[in-house]
Amino acid sequence: MANAEILSIGTELLLGEVLDTNSKFFATELAKLGIDCYYRVTVGDNKDRIKASLKQAFDRSDIILTSGGLGPTADDLTTECVAEFLNLPMVMDAEVLKEIEKLFAERNLSMPETNKKQAMRPRGAGVLPNPSGTAPGILWIVPTEVLASAGVVDPQRKRAILTFPGVPSELVNMWNQSGAAFIADNFLTGAIFSIELKHYGIGESALAEKYSALLDGNSPTVAPYAGQGECRLRVAAKAATMEEARALVMPVAQEIRRESGWLCYGQDDDTLESVVGQLLIQHNLTLSVAESCTGGLVSKRLTDIGGSSAYIKLNAVTYANEAKLKLLGVSEGLLDKHGAVSDECARAMAEGIARLSGTEIGLSITGIAGPTGGTPDKPVGTVYLGLFSNGQLATKRLNLGTKLNRQEIRFRTSSAALNMVRLHLLSRNFVVQ
Ligand code: ATP
Repeated sequence: MANAEILSIGTELLLGEVLDTNSKFFATELAKLGIDCYYRVTVGDNKDRIKASLKQAFDRSDIILTSGGLGPTADDLTTECVAEFLNLPMVMDAEVLKEIEKLFAERNLSMPETNKKQAMRPRGAGVLPNPSGTAPGILWIVPTEVLASAGVVDPQRKRAILTFPGVPSELVNMWNQSGAAFIADNFLTGAIFSIELKHYGIGESALAEKYSALLDGNSPTVAPYAGQGECRLRVAAKAATMEEARALVMPVAQEIRRESGWLCYGQDDDTLESVVGQLLIQHNLTLSVAESCTGGLVSKRLTDIGGSSAYIKLNAVTYANEAKLKLLGVSEGLLDKHGAVSDECARAMAEGIARLSGTEIGLSITGIAGPTGGTPDKPVGTVYLGLFSNGQLATKRLNLGTKLNRQEIRFRTSSAALNMVRLHLLSRNFVVQ
């Protein structure tokens, strides 16, 4: 089975200025294809070190995916380094040059001389088209004799190199349009089908324990992965055809969904917010949110979903007590007596936002995201969620602990709030606490 290596090129990555999300993307995509990724290397914009990294990668891996360094400037060195390492001259690709010139002309810009560099490639290398940017990449099964002349270990073994620009959106497009299929065609025999079952409300180890009998199987394989406050179970199988692989996966995936019940909120691209949206549409209900410690994050997640204006009406970030008072009608007496981070305040906020916006459901969030603040009774990570629906109120207290940082507390709170709405919509059976 072929294995892959990811080579991220760019000094900004080594300086910590840019987070290497491209490697994460490649790693996830390779896993989906069932290709093992044994190494991830990051190297700065330095010719010798890039060439040394290429040598290392070609010696020990079958598929090399690079990102970055395809731009027109002097510190964009990837293509040159590939050519030098493989002992090949750089040649101008007239077709690619025409494409780049066209792109500038369409934008009514004259093409800088330096951009010509982006039409150069090692002699014989294939083009990886870039539909959303100027720099195409290389997509190439490197011939044995080229590998031998470059002194690559075991040149008879099949090697591919694919170079991508650093800009994440371009890289993703190029992967989806050409890269993934190229690798599948050249390195995969048979087909892989996989489903990710997304769980909320159960930890990774509890999930692994629940399905321990399935985790040992290998057709399909079942593997748990932990995310931020949620977990996924990936069910995957390989077979001669996609249909056969699918037939191996589906019964197991269905069995897990049945067994997990409401703990499993969806699969693959589903998110808590998209599932809440679907349920609101299904029940023909609308939602409004009053947020304090999450500062609008719940609202952002809900409105990230296209078409959310059908069910989201008015969301408010009522951060100060004054805002809770004026906008939501939380009483001064309540705030004096119980404080803003309280069960009582969450109730009043949920009811207040539902009345203000005229939606069937009102959701509220009030808590202490830290790092400072909190009391022995209500330490950092204490959050109250409120839900108003059908004239009834429910609340939930979260104790997220002091180990999480502010961003993590806010994100996990937003997930818990979305999940509260989800469970309510699934049950439509209010349990007042
Ligand atoms: P360009 O044609 O824009 O110059 P390029 O291929 O030369 O593209 P870089 O200059 O290395 O790519 O990076 C362009 C931008 O893409 C960087 O400023 C950075 O924001 C982003 N980027 C680069 N590498 C990565 C990475 N590994 N993960 C996420 N973002 C990245």
